[in-house]
Amino acid sequence: GADRTKNVLILMSDTGGGHRASAEAIRDAFKMEFGDEYRIFVKDVWKEYTGWPLNDMENQYKFMVKHVQLWSVAFHGTSPRWIHGVYLAAIAAFYAKEVEAGLMEYKPDIIISVHPLMQHIPLTVLKWQGLQKKVIFVTVITDLNTCHRTWFHPGVKRCYCPSEEVSKRALLDGLEQNQVRVFGLPVRPSFARAVLNKVPAFPFVFLLYHGSSRFLGGNLVILQDDLRVELELDPVLPAVLLMGGGEGMGPVKKTAKALAESLFDKETGNPLGQMVVICGRNKALASSLQSLEWKIPVKVRGFETQMQKWMGACDCIITKAGPGTIAEALIRGLPIILNDYIPGQEKGNVPYVVGNGAGVFTRSPKETARIVAGWFTTNSDERKKMSENALKLAQPEAVFDIVRDIHDLACQRGPLPDVPYVLTSSFSSLI
Ligand code: UDP
Repeated sequence: GADRTKNVLILMSDTGGGHRASAEAIRDAFKMEFGDEYRIFVKDVWKEYTGWPLNDMENQYKFMVKHVQLWSVAFHGTSPRWIHGVYLAAIAAFYAKEVEAGLMEYKPDIIISVHPLMQHIPLTVLKWQGLQKKVIFVTVITDLNTCHRTWFHPGVKRCYCPSEEVSKRALLDGLEQNQVRVFGLPVRPSFARAVLNKVPAFPFVFLLYHGSSRFLGGNLVILQDDLRVELELDPVLPAVLLMGGGEGMGPVKKTAKALAESLFDKETGNPLGQMVVICGRNKALASSLQSLEWKIPVKVRGFETQMQKWMGACDCIITKAGPGTIAEALIRGLPIILNDYIPGQEKGNVPYVVGNGAGVFTRSPKETARIVAGWFTTNSDERKKMSENALKLAQPEAVFDIVRDIHDLACQRGPLPDVPYVLTSSFSSLI
């Protein structure tokens, strides 16, 4: 009937940390905005329902991005539509039954894809099922600029682009203007609560400026001092956050060592700053860093689920050019040093950050360490300027704009009939 809870299936994959973070952002925003109106499932349908190569995407991706040349060939070589189209159609045919079962299990009224390889096959399955008119299928793109063309599928109801650059690509690739919306990259709502370095004389001015207090409940702002206590960081020393996406990639170890040198004042024997290294799922990196002796205060962590706190407690960030990390850092007003990028989809993130004055790019750990030491001592004006530019680029509301738009689509569709999901037994005869 009209009032029944609608099912939303979010398709993602744990390649890196960004797709899961976006999926969780959308799920949390649905909950905050619409409560029980929607039931949300976040699923990696490939992993659960298919065989190799789809169920092994995590490992293949990890392997390829470690050997960047391979990834570069894979990324650019599959760009032409006829190549990835044929490839994905073949996989769709091969795994049709399994994927179909995977999708149908959740009886979705709405399917949201946050992954570049989760358009073609699910849409093909919906078509086979005769459900493409009944199920709302949307794509939320999670690359800021140079994204892969498999993100764009003309069969979607909406394609949410994080930036104008991406929307231009979508239109060039044949999507219609009415399919495309530009709101920003979805970031987990927990980031929307502002962090203050000091209590300002006129807090309301800051709140108006930050503008996002409506959905934060009573607790409008968090003080950086409180976060430092909670996370057991030094209360006064400026802090640099060093990370490399969900997998802990990039020159993290060399950079950590260089920072420990540059942030140690040899003359006085005192540290000029402290460092937090978040290694994500890279366990080898974490244990190797934990075994070292440091001259400055250092915290080495594995995969953290409260990134909004760590970013709030720090004063600048060093990371590979992951879109999720960048979008989050911008909301936190952190100046960004980009020290690496994955060829293809992350390349365009570098000019996005640097061109907008929110950070710098360098591959050299020494140079990185020198810049941070400058920001923490004589060059603090540059850090402040970049922090302001970061806040200007930030889009903490994007995820709410996206879920509201999807809600509007669901309302326009009127009272939903119960979606007639049946597994077509005659289905395999189609292929
Ligand atoms: N992340 C996290 N905990 C960690 C490390 C990373 O939650 O310990 C999150 C991070 O906040 C961001 C995402 O993982 O949302 C990383 O996404 P990004 O697009 O930067 O890079 P990816 O890992 O997808 O290559």
